[in-house]
Amino acid sequence: MSPTIASLDTLVAGLAPEARRRFDRLFDVAVSVAEVLPPPAMENWICSAFKYLTRKDPAGPEGRKEILDTIRHQQVVHVLNRVTTQATLFNYVRAVRPIEAKAATDVEAEIEAARGRCSFCKPLELTPANSFGRIGQKKTCANVAVYDGYHGLVIFEHHSPLRFRHDEFAPAEIADLLATSRAWADKCHAESPDARFFFLMWNCLWKAGASIIHGHAQMTVGRKFHYGKVERLRRDALAYKKEHGADYFADLVAVHESLGLAVRWGGVTALAHLVPAKDREMILVAGRFDAPDLPAAIWRALKVFAAQDVKSYNLAVYMPPMGAPDPAWAGFPVLVHLVDRGDLAAKTADIGAMEMYASAVVSADPFALAEAMKK
Ligand SMILES: [Zn+2]
Repeated sequence: MSPTIASLDTLVAGLAPEARRRFDRLFDVAVSVAEVLPPPAMENWICSAFKYLTRKDPAGPEGRKEILDTIRHQQVVHVLNRVTTQATLFNYVRAVRPIEAKAATDVEAEIEAARGRCSFCKPLELTPANSFGRIGQKKTCANVAVYDGYHGLVIFEHHSPLRFRHDEFAPAEIADLLATSRAWADKCHAESPDARFFFLMWNCLWKAGASIIHGHAQMTVGRKFHYGKVERLRRDALAYKKEHGADYFADLVAVHESLGLAVRWGGVTALAHLVPAKDREMILVAGRFDAPDLPAAIWRALKVFAAQDVKSYNLAVYMPPMGAPDPAWAGFPVLVHLVDRGDLAAKTADIGAMEMYASAVVSADPFALAEAMKK
C-alpha cells in the first residue's frame, strides 16, 4: 500500500529518532473520526457518487457496505506547522477521489475567442509602460490599476495560458520569464534603491484570480518591508533558529524527505507540501533566484500539474530583498509556491470562511502528489 495522508500518524511513529524529533519540532497532527449517518434513501446516491471508495463491485453488497462504512466513519487528519501556524485539514474520503481528466475543450474555445480582441496580444497599443519603459521590446507592461508603487506584468508571447499543458512548452520559456521579471525588478530598484522587495506571481485563469485570459505573470517591488506573509515567515524562521539552534528551511526540507514528500530536480528540492494552502501545493526550494536549475524545476512542476489535469493555478515566489545582502534575511532561500485552484467550470470559490480565517481545507493527498512528482 502506498502511504496516504490518512496513514500520516503511523508513518511519523515509524520515523528514526532524529527524524522524529525534527518532525515534532515542526509539526503536530490530530486525527478525528466524524460520524456521518445517512438515511436509507441516500444510500444509492452515496454508493454511486463515492464508488471509488471500494475496489469491489460498488453495486454489490460487499462494495456497498465498504462505501457506506467509510462514509459513516470519516477520518480527518489535521496537520499544524507549529513554527508558522499554517494548518490544513484533510478528509480521507475526498483525498482518495480519483482524478477524472476532463477535456479542456470549452476552456480552450473561450481562450481562443479572446484572441485578437485581447489587449495583451497588442501590448504596445493597449498596455501602459512603467516609468523606465519596457523590458525587451514588449515583454513587460505596467498594470493599469496598480497595487503597489511598482507593479508590472510579464506578457507571455503565447496567448493561451494553457500552453503549459502542451508538448511544445519548453523550460526556456520559464527561464525567459524569470530573467525578464528580474530585469524589470532591477530597473525598479535602480530607479528607487529603497524599492527592494521583489515579488513574482502568476495567476493562471479566472479561478486563480486572473482577469485577463492571455498568459501573464505579475511582479511588484515593495518598499521598507516585505509583503506580510513573507515577513511573517522570516520572523518565524528566525524564532525557530533561536529556540532550536537549527535552520528552519533545512528542517522543513528534511521532514518532507523523511516522509517521502520531497524530490530533487537538479539543484532544486521540490516538496509536496504537508500543510498545503489548497490542493496540490508544491514548494520548490532553491538557493538563488538565478539558480541554473530553477527554470527546469518550475517547468517540471507545471508538467506535474498538467498530468494531474490542473488548469488554473497560482505561482508565487518568496525571496530575500534585492541589493546588498541584508543580515536580517541571511539564510532565507528562494521558495516557489504552486497551488491548484480547482475546476474552471465551478461557480463556487475554492475558499470560504474556513480558509480565510481558520485553516486550509484540502482534498488532494500530498502523498499522491509526491508520487506524481517522482514520475
Ligand atoms: Zn492575447
